[in-house]
Amino acid sequence: MQTRSAVSSNLTLTGRVARQSAETSFQHESAEDRTIKISVEQLNFYYGRSRALHDITLAIPAKRITAFIGPSGCGKSTLLRSINRMNDIIPGIRVDGHIKLDGEDIYAPGTDVVTLRSRIGMVFQKSNPFPRSIFDNVAYGLRVNNLARSRTEMRDRVEESLKQAALWNEVKDRLKESALALSGGQQQRLCIARALAVRPDVVLMDEPASALDPIATQKIEELIGELKEHYTIVIVTHNMQQAARVSERTAFFWLGKLIEVSETEKMFTNPGEKLTEDYITGRFG
Ligand code: ADP
Repeated sequence: MQTRSAVSSNLTLTGRVARQSAETSFQHESAEDRTIKISVEQLNFYYGRSRALHDITLAIPAKRITAFIGPSGCGKSTLLRSINRMNDIIPGIRVDGHIKLDGEDIYAPGTDVVTLRSRIGMVFQKSNPFPRSIFDNVAYGLRVNNLARSRTEMRDRVEESLKQAALWNEVKDRLKESALALSGGQQQRLCIARALAVRPDVVLMDEPASALDPIATQKIEELIGELKEHYTIVIVTHNMQQAARVSERTAFFWLGKLIEVSETEKMFTNPGEKLTEDYITGRFG
């Protein structure tokens, strides 16, 4: 059996995914950049009889930031939530096609969804800390998954995660205080720390700053930029300026279809599709 890293290193665009025309702009990047972390292949998603995603094929590169943009209701969150199977709990949904993480189909029978979600963490629009201490919020995933062998290791990993989430300096003297006493922006960074504590490969972010003030938003955006060194990030945003500021690749969706995916700079300066141009220039919203 191939190891995870062997599978992943085989998944460059020199393989099957290279032939997808939407991904041709990868050809100018280094081999390392071209590693595909998540490969969505001919994905259709249904809520009951209503089809929310139409035949989506999209390669998400490792350790880069990919933004999903498009008008409300175009399927961005549905696709994001499909990547760690968060939609599974909704009655009547149906998924056709494949989503592969390091080449392994996450919808294959026998997939352990708990393990999957520890590899693919999620941060939501509204921060959702538990009504417990700052420390316990970050330690939660470590305890549930039994990931720390000692109290020292637990403390070290909580500290490491809070540092990565750019929150450590603000909370290091008050780890036992309730998480609910933090400001909105701090609560969101705490939720990011909680997601990072289990050392995922991928972090999915669904409008992570849309409920925050401009200063807190700026901090989250800076943080996202720093996190890509270690994580593959996918961010849904309704805010095109935010997509342009934080992401390196952008995928534009419309009515459940993927219209265009390219380097963010190209998308916002020289989009390939008229529909994309109309959207980013504000002709519809
Ligand atoms: P976006 O994130 O781009 O705003 P969504 O993925 O939330 O779009 O929604 C895509 C489509 O799926 C919309 O038509 C929406 O009404 C529908 N939808 C989303 N969630 C559900 C649900 N739980 N049940 C039924 N339909 C849903």
